[in-house]
Amino acid sequence: MKAAVFQGIGRPLSIEERPDPTPGPGEVLIRVGRAGICGSDLHMTSEPDTTIVAGTIIGHELAGEIVALGAGVTRLRLGDHVAPMPFVGCGHCAACEDGRPHHCAQTRFDVVTGFAQYSRVGANDCVVLPPGLTDEDGALIEPLAVGLQGVRKARLRVGCRALVLGAGPIGLASSFWARRLGASRVAVMANSHRRERFAREMGATHFIAQGETADPAGAIRDALGGPPEVVFEAVGVAGAVGKAMEYVAPRGTIIALGFTTEPETYSCTVAIMKEVRVLFSMVYERRDFQYTAEVMAAGDHAPRAMITDTVSLDAMPWRFEDLRGANADCKVMVAPWGAG
Ligand SMILES: [Zn+2]
Ligand SMILES: [Zn+2]
Repeated sequence: MKAAVFQGIGRPLSIEERPDPTPGPGEVLIRVGRAGICGSDLHMTSEPDTTIVAGTIIGHELAGEIVALGAGVTRLRLGDHVAPMPFVGCGHCAACEDGRPHHCAQTRFDVVTGFAQYSRVGANDCVVLPPGLTDEDGALIEPLAVGLQGVRKARLRVGCRALVLGAGPIGLASSFWARRLGASRVAVMANSHRRERFAREMGATHFIAQGETADPAGAIRDALGGPPEVVFEAVGVAGAVGKAMEYVAPRGTIIALGFTTEPETYSCTVAIMKEVRVLFSMVYERRDFQYTAEVMAAGDHAPRAMITDTVSLDAMPWRFEDLRGANADCKVMVAPWGAG
């Protein structure tokens, strides 16, 4: 098969011919229809302390058709189109049974190869795409499920005011679910107006370009009609949780979704005076995947607006490098067998 292979920090991915993978017990092989490029793909291929090694094939936001079944797989059939969770667990411990393979003691993140023509995936944690959903929709489920997990953790009060920091796909997914699961007003705040269109399509009722206001806290209160009861932090730079504490209402909740390897800084005074509740959220559970698929299949296609481009595998390495700089894209899809 053809695959985009990591060559090491500072070097572009290269397209190589690799042997077709064989699904192990409890796994299935999928012919990858679409795989989304994620900010974390860009990070893990550029940060000096990355855990991935040269020769690795990444790509964790994918969907495709099952073309081979590993031993012991009975729930899935050849020809099913599925969106897999990219973590593969043992399949039978408490965490795996609960649909949280990333908490399995044997979890693996290196099995799934979205940026290739085929990928092994864990059978347990595949969601079969309902009728009406394409592989392209399926590849959006992973980032949407990250937002859903965060919004579920927030336990929104119906009619509440929510703020989302950051307008990348995770911030957008958070605004999508916040609006649908109870928030009356959802303000998205980002550096510039570049992502406003996407935010509004995904459910934001207000958009604040931080660079254009001298008083962000005031702009947030004006937009929402008061301070936000919930803040979703989806920027992922040191200090962002501290900023969220400044903006949130007393006794408010902060859901920290952004990822940084730098130590976080915040004012203990602000945190304690407001009695802030901070919950950290990583990825999702199987039920988040399932529910996302169901909502999209029921006709809520707003997330499709996030897709700004689809590229072939051959064009993917340079497009990938291109996304490291400032760009107008939101979600770029890779079509390893060509678009269509
Ligand atoms: Zn991702
Ligand atoms: Zn397990």
